[in-house]
Amino acid sequence: MKLPKDYRPAPDLLKDKIILVTGAGDGIGKVAALTYAAHGATVVLLGRTQSKLEQVYDDIEAQGGPQPAIYPFDLETATPNDYKDMHQVLEETFGVLHGVLHNAGQLGERTPISDYSPEAWMRVMQVNLNAPFLLTQALLPLLHKAERASIVFTSSGVANRGRAFWGAYAASKAGQDNLMQTLADELEDASAIRANSINPGGTRTAMRATAYPAEDPTTRPAPAEHMPLYLYLMGDDSVGVNGEQFDA
Ligand code: NDP
Repeated sequence: MKLPKDYRPAPDLLKDKIILVTGAGDGIGKVAALTYAAHGATVVLLGRTQSKLEQVYDDIEAQGGPQPAIYPFDLETATPNDYKDMHQVLEETFGVLHGVLHNAGQLGERTPISDYSPEAWMRVMQVNLNAPFLLTQALLPLLHKAERASIVFTSSGVANRGRAFWGAYAASKAGQDNLMQTLADELEDASAIRANSINPGGTRTAMRATAYPAEDPTTRPAPAEHMPLYLYLMGDDSVGVNGEQFDA
């Protein structure tokens, strides 16, 4: 699916909403966190590199957004208990959650299956597929407390059809889309939570540069260009949209 034509997010689209963004320290997640804050959200900045999260925190404060929260968290090594603790901390701090952007991701190896290191495979699966499951499961009770809530997953062009040398990344993104659909089907009619996914497409970030080292980065759109779609799916303008895959 595509963003409705001529979509214009209201400046206060996310006012009074609490939104958690994973991988908020860099790339698309950083820009999404800044954009959500600029539209009124209190953003929970989750990521593994504290210094990057602090920079985003400072940037949000500098732009006059609501004071964010930093949640340093390594999705690769976190245990189910760590997710329970996260639920408790967010419950105590905010009592409710209106949105989750599952953005953090790892590219893994660009190698044939025959050579793919099992350790690298499992690392990618842990971050790109198991973590969105664990995080969603842990935070659903807080999302259920909101009048309306949105969970946005991050897909890829290789999710619907695998491609040579994309290994665990492609498999994990296919899995993440499938998880989104299962969840959306379970939530349909039964709750005010919706779940959808975004395939940002080739975007000017560190991950893209690693995947395509010979490419001129200026030929790819910057993350900011995708933000209308990221806002649309996170805000109430997309109420009623559930279980859909969007291309940026
Ligand atoms: P980047 O590599 O620029 O950023 C990824 C973010 O995820 C970083 O903030 C990184 O943290 C964080 N992260 C990685 N591993 C972990 C972990 N174990 N625990 C917590 N955080 C972690 O990627 P992009 O911004 O390009 O990608 C964002 C999403 O978009 C990903 O899901 C990606 O698969 C998807 N995507 C991107 C495309 C593109 O062309 N850029 C195309 C299609 C999909 P840190 O900064 O500390 O490393």
